[in-house]
Amino acid sequence: ATADIQVGPAPVSVKYTKLFIDGQFVDAVSGKTFETLDPRNGELIANVAEADKEDVDIAVQVARKAFDEGPWPRLSGYERGRILFKFADLLEQHADELAALETLDNGKPVQLARFVDVAESIKLVRVYAGYADKISGRTVRMSSSYQGHTLLEPIGVVGQIIPWNFPLVMVAMKVGPALACGNTVILKPAEQTPLTALYAAQLAKEAGLPPGVLNVLPGFGPTAGAAIANHNGIDKVAFTGSTEVGREVMIAAAKSNLKPVSLELGGKSPLIILDDADLDLAVTLSHLALFFNQGQVCCAGSRIFVQEGLYNTFLERITELAKKRVIGDPFQGGVDHGPLIDQIQLERVVSYIESGKKEGANLVIGGSQIGSKGYYLEPTIFADVQDNMKIAEEEIFGPVMSILKFKSLEEIVQRANNTRYGLAAGIVTKNIDVASRLSRSIRAGTIWINCYHVLDPSLPFGGYKMSGIGRENGEYALQNYLQVKAVVSPLVDSPW
Ligand code: ADP
Repeated sequence: ATADIQVGPAPVSVKYTKLFIDGQFVDAVSGKTFETLDPRNGELIANVAEADKEDVDIAVQVARKAFDEGPWPRLSGYERGRILFKFADLLEQHADELAALETLDNGKPVQLARFVDVAESIKLVRVYAGYADKISGRTVRMSSSYQGHTLLEPIGVVGQIIPWNFPLVMVAMKVGPALACGNTVILKPAEQTPLTALYAAQLAKEAGLPPGVLNVLPGFGPTAGAAIANHNGIDKVAFTGSTEVGREVMIAAAKSNLKPVSLELGGKSPLIILDDADLDLAVTLSHLALFFNQGQVCCAGSRIFVQEGLYNTFLERITELAKKRVIGDPFQGGVDHGPLIDQIQLERVVSYIESGKKEGANLVIGGSQIGSKGYYLEPTIFADVQDNMKIAEEEIFGPVMSILKFKSLEEIVQRANNTRYGLAAGIVTKNIDVASRLSRSIRAGTIWINCYHVLDPSLPFGGYKMSGIGRENGEYALQNYLQVKAVVSPLVDSPW
């Protein structure tokens, strides 16, 4: 066994650990708390109030009141935008602290937390602050003697359930559009990473968000999460997480009050490298596509298809690069690979590695836990992976790369699409004709040509097939949080 990764004291303290309801931090009705752990060493960071159904009931009452009687949906878009801009400014003022808190709770390298997670969250909130006063309906020229117009109205009380891999980004992606449209929100962060969501709630309050408009309820999925999905007083639910739980959320929504559902779920995204690709680019992109965030990314390039002419050289180079990956305390500068989120995830990923070995994939490097403290796992590469192996079919959500060989374009289209998922895909080639044609043939919500993981608050993101329903980011996300009202009035005959 290898030595433990040495980690220093966390350079941040935790301020908010209670449920945020009606603008106040409160204990759970049950008085229960749960532990949020430091993934670097498995030690306790803080005990956090644990929401359950009773707390969701209370949050629904206050969010309902804030929607039905409060100023929020009645404010002009301009006024809502001003508060959201202020919220973004406060996130920016506290960016370093938020980044440190994110690293403490999640384990990601702090530079990335600061310049990817927190930076993108700020941008997201600003983009939606900017939309708040630009949401309008249309006039409709009807076929009869009536005139029609549409009003775009907020849906009401919105439930949002988010995962642990990009905790603050998920908060921004969810609450940004929901609040811009005038909804009130009950947000459940993942039980592994509740801290930045609670911090953000406090900043939203300081920005002037009225009480009850944003409620943050840390808790577990089968209790607090299910209570949200099942609640008759919640008008819409948005979920990001696994496909399995997404299905449960949709069933619960259908069984309760038929609340509309938007889902951002799993993926098994192909990254296709053609013989003519720039080798350096292909190698760097593949490395980023899979190892970024320790592989805990829904759109990770988790099936790397390399054309036969480039296969051997590519394999050599990608292995060299993986060996250079700096593993360590994510608070230390220059570290690019931190721990996985928790013990459960570590065991799940290790079991995929075992299955890859058993099914005959070629383990090129990695494969083991590092030390015994914390949840560090070596960057791992499997070559000669076959389509029907479990590691090629199922989402691993860890630093395990699968490399597959292909011959022809006909073959690759068929193989790339042979999955229940359709979140993203990458293509590396110098041939623009091939890239254009492939980007039409591949059934996925995002296609990256000669780049990967390039997301933007203005660019729609979401899945085909079982990777989800609906789109987030950009103008498309507004549709998840608005409903359309048609208003009709007679157009009376007149002599003029
Ligand atoms: P992951 O595999 O990334 O942890 P999950 O889908 O398990 O993803 O979790 C994503 C979010 O869904 C978390 O906030 C989790 O607490 C929540 N969740 C888990 N199970 C349920 C459930 N049955 N109903 C509602 N939410 C759930």
